Amino acid sequence: MHLFSPFARARTTACAIVAVLAGLLPGAAAAQSITFFYVAPTATVKAGFGAVAPADTGLFDVGYAHVRITAANEAKFKAAAPANLGKTFDALKAGTRLRNRVNQILRISGGLTDVTVALVDDRTGITAGSRFADMPRGDGVLYVWPAASVSARLGNGRYRGFIGLGTTAADSISSKWPGLWLAWEGTIQHEMSHTQFVNEKTKWGSVNIVYGGDGNHWISELLGEQELTFEEGLGTFFGLVDNPDWSRRALVPFWQNADGRYDLESWSVLAGTAELWNAPHTEVRQTPPTPPPTPGGEYAVRTYKWQDVPGFYIQFNENTSTAFHYFFWSFANANKDSAFAMIRRSASAMSQDRRKRYLSYAVNRLSLQLEDFAATPAGAAAKSAGTLTSSMFPYALLDVLTHFGMSDADFQRECRADNPDRTPKAFTDYWTRRAAVRALVQPHLTADPIRIQDAVQAVHDYFRTPDTILATGP
Ligand SMILES: [Zn+2]
Repeated sequence: MHLFSPFARARTTACAIVAVLAGLLPGAAAAQSITFFYVAPTATVKAGFGAVAPADTGLFDVGYAHVRITAANEAKFKAAAPANLGKTFDALKAGTRLRNRVNQILRISGGLTDVTVALVDDRTGITAGSRFADMPRGDGVLYVWPAASVSARLGNGRYRGFIGLGTTAADSISSKWPGLWLAWEGTIQHEMSHTQFVNEKTKWGSVNIVYGGDGNHWISELLGEQELTFEEGLGTFFGLVDNPDWSRRALVPFWQNADGRYDLESWSVLAGTAELWNAPHTEVRQTPPTPPPTPGGEYAVRTYKWQDVPGFYIQFNENTSTAFHYFFWSFANANKDSAFAMIRRSASAMSQDRRKRYLSYAVNRLSLQLEDFAATPAGAAAKSAGTLTSSMFPYALLDVLTHFGMSDADFQRECRADNPDRTPKAFTDYWTRRAAVRALVQPHLTADPIRIQDAVQAVHDYFRTPDTILATGP
């Protein structure tokens, strides 16, 4: 059976852009403030607000001006701006569901990042030299693609994040993507999470190397490293927690698909890995997108089935990080709020250091938190009530998502390479149970469509029995 999701090959909602506006724009230094700017063609800003200072023109793009949105000029902004920009501004006001969620996300790095949000009327198009990530419309005109960047540490010890949100993307995403307006809010949640991962973003120094020759990253793509891939997938998790349509219509169908679902470009880093490149595949020839980020001729895109991708390399797809956190959040300790808090603490441990942004490190951080909680009086009570999840569950969950495709030695090396400061007891005990767990779920993993939810359920049922609960304090 062929399961098709129209979103399986959608471009993902963001990239970490290189240009940073830190220092160019004012911002309060209060904890995790969010500052809004309205950015529009200069004539539009003049018509809506009267005169525009010369310093406020041309900063974001040629022909564009900007004005900071305050309570004093909010009405003028609403009158001048396209409806979805005003709606976005309102959705991010203090006290809203979205703002409360964003505030949680903005505490991952300790509340040290102030965010500037540019709300852009990009209906007449932007130039390739703008401050924004861009994407061509069908007619080739560029519009603002939602993207985030974050500055180096500033003199005051804080960071400045910058997010560009255009009305073209807001209109499109809120009318087409699973969850509609919630998908747009999820996009904002995703972008906000990018501002929490500071310092080096990628081991290659350039996102274009991670993304391959087309300069884009796709939900289906096997990318050039694990770190930025992990961050992208985690951001998508943060975007779906309030949008159940995303998991129902995009994430789970992707994981049920037993046909070809992973793409790898011949211009990509992993194309040099024979074990992956030559795994069973189909191939199409493509020409670079227009306008091409890299001049060049025809290139190949190979497509692989999940079971044909060697398990280790499944970690190079961002939907693995999304699914790992989604299933942990859905199951762990039968409490999504506490699981969400565990994921935020896990992310905090990675926020400063690119070399911690690995699925195996998330396994370590979540496993430790499950053991630490199990050692508390509340944990003991939860164990009696049968609602505790074993600290071995994160290991088994990564195993399920990589179809148990890593050897014991490879999986253990991956965990040790992250240099965790503590090792959970689960890291000792899991390996004696691994073969039994694998046998338990194998019929689900080899089915077509893949019974991914049944597999995770079975693994969680196994790791909920009292003999699997491990409790160790720090
Ligand atoms: Zn992103």
